[in-house]
Order: sequence, then structure tokens, then C-alpha cells
Amino acid sequence: MVHEWALAEAIADYVFKVAPNAKRVRVVVRLGELQAADEEVLKFALEEIMKSEGVECDVALKREDCVLKCRKCGHEWLLKEVGLEEEVREAIHFVPEVVHSYLKCPKCGSRDFEVIKGRGVWVEEVSWE
Ligand SMILES: [Zn+2]
Repeated sequence: MVHEWALAEAIADYVFKVAPNAKRVRVVVRLGELQAADEEVLKFALEEIMKSEGVECDVALKREDCVLKCRKCGHEWLLKEVGLEEEVREAIHFVPEVVHSYLKCPKCGSRDFEVIKGRGVWVEEVSWE
């Protein structure tokens, strides 16, 4: 919960910066698959923070799939294509770094891979009146 509010605050700060006099904003937020965040809570938190500043806010959240790429053979794959147990998936969401202890390249078996997509949170679009 605290985590989502902290994220929402960071997003709100950004929105206030790009649209300082807006009364109504529309924000598109992209959330990486590896980012542990409850979408409903994040959306609610952001709307509440904006409202407390007198700004009406319309939030759209999008998820970005996590894409992994093998450094050895160049193979790219999606995290969701890998059949992971629920607890492993959860562990990865909380500490993305552990992804390396649970996964290996489905093609060559190497553990030398990188996360090329699906990390972090960012504001994709802000529009306002
Ligand atoms: Zn590989």
C-alpha cells in the first residue's frame, strides 16, 4: 500500500510539473510487469493526490510485458511464456534481481541474460485542460 502511494506521489509531482495550471488531467501510466504495484490502489492513490490539489484526474494504466534477452545466444522471450510457480512469480515481482536465480535461457540454458523490458513505472502521456 505504502509503495503504491509513494509511486503515485512521484507521478503526481511529475504531472504538476508538466501541467502546473491544469484543472483536469489525463495521465497514461505504463507499469512494467516486474514492477510490484497494485493497479487499483495506484490509480486510486493518484486520483486522490490530484484531487487534494484541486485537479481532476483521469488515470489509464497499461502493463508492459517483461522481455528477457540472452546475452549468449541473443534469444528473446517473454516472462509470461515461462511456466513459473506462483511463489516464484511473486518473489520476482518483489525483488526483480532474483529473476536470475529462477530463470535461464529457454534456448541455450544460459543464466546470462538481461531484462530489456518490463521494469519500472513511467508516465507515457499527460494531457490537460
Ligand atoms: Zn541463450
